[in-house]
Amino acid sequence: MDLRNAGVTDTRVLAAIERIPRETFVEEAFLDQAYANQALPINCGQTISQPLVVGLMTQALELGDRQKVLEVGTGSGYQTAILSKLARRVYTIERHRDLMADAEQRFKALKFHNITTMVGDGYKGWGAQAPFDRILVTAAARIVPPDLVAQLSDEGGIMVLPVGDSSGLQQEVIRVRKDGKQFKSERLFPVRFVPLVQGVPQESEK
Ligand code: SAH
Repeated sequence: MDLRNAGVTDTRVLAAIERIPRETFVEEAFLDQAYANQALPINCGQTISQPLVVGLMTQALELGDRQKVLEVGTGSGYQTAILSKLARRVYTIERHRDLMADAEQRFKALKFHNITTMVGDGYKGWGAQAPFDRILVTAAARIVPPDLVAQLSDEGGIMVLPVGDSSGLQQEVIRVRKDGKQFKSERLFPVRFVPLVQGVPQESEK
């Protein structure tokens, strides 16, 4: 996959993607497809995002290396790893404890020291650590979660998230820019993500 030709032109983003071994984040059964431009199944019925979508969403964040980022939907931890190369600190929330345990192992193995994790409901964000310069959501919400808007820095904060229905057929990535109490949103491109689900799972959901 030539990410550059497909629209990922930010050289810092391309370099970060090149430096993260995606094979570390996929399940063993899909190792042969680790570098294909495809979303792949991970545990708990979730998916690791498609590399092109990771590239385009990361680029849309316009990340600076002194920034503090919140990610909602850790999943495999692949997107988190890329953010950790580009930002000062990454706070990441996942609702499935088992997925977070696997992601934490990978961060440890790859020696990332600027990632802070939490198992919880990312729909509510991480109030204790707010405000965030950047917020990236990697599961589709029906509406822009109000707590996340509130936790975004009002000095040029940017949030990128897929918004749309849970079937995945009508979702779009949206970018919200916040300045003071004003915000603007723009529609970027269509995508297909698993839904953002409120609350943490019960035992029976695993
Ligand atoms: N960025 C991930 C993609 C994971 S798929 C990767 O690169 O692998 C989306 C993830 O969001 C799933 O793991 C799902 O469990 C999680 N998720 C869904 N709703 C959530 C919520 N309210 N809070 C935290 N995580 C959530």
